[in-house]
This record gives sequence, C-alpha cells and structure tokens, in this order.
Amino acid sequence: MSNSETKEKHSRRLQREHNAIRKQQKIAKAYGLNDHQYEGHYFAKMHALNCGNPKCLMCGNPRKTWKELTIQEQRQQQEMDIQRLRHSNGVVEE
Ligand SMILES: [Zn+2]
Repeated sequence: MSNSETKEKHSRRLQREHNAIRKQQKIAKAYGLNDHQYEGHYFAKMHALNCGNPKCLMCGNPRKTWKELTIQEQRQQQEMDIQRLRHSNGVVEE
C-alpha cells in the first residue's frame, strides 16, 4: 500500500501546506494582526488579509458577489479582443 512514491507525495503535500501557512503568518505579522491569528492551523485554508466572511462584499470574489468577471479575467478578455482585431501588419482595427 505505502511505497516510497506515495510517501514522497504525502510529505510533499504536508510541506506545501506548512509553507503556505508560514507565508500567511508572515503577512499577518507584517500587518500587525491579533496574536491568536499567528498560531496553529488558522491559515491552512484562509488568507491572512481577508475577513473570513464568505459573503463579504469587500474581499469576496466579484464573480460570486457582483456576478461580474474578476479584473484579471477582464484583462485577459481585453487582450484577446485586441489580438483578434489586429491585422498582420500590426494595425489594430477600431
Ligand atoms: Zn471581508
């Protein structure tokens, strides 16, 4: 059941989670959040700078809360539109 490959995958998962938690702890410390938020498994599935409310309008995902695309997605869409309108001589059609 447990050969060396699965053991290695498991330990890699554990290490990745540990690193993610430490990264969030560092952010929390830099922003001077409450002490209890530095410890334990608090940041395993939550980022340091969001409030923890899944329906929050400020830090939630706009795709969910406002039913519109995220800024990153809008940028990608815009770049694709420009790509589509560009001619082979480099002129972008209006
Ligand atoms: Zn929030």
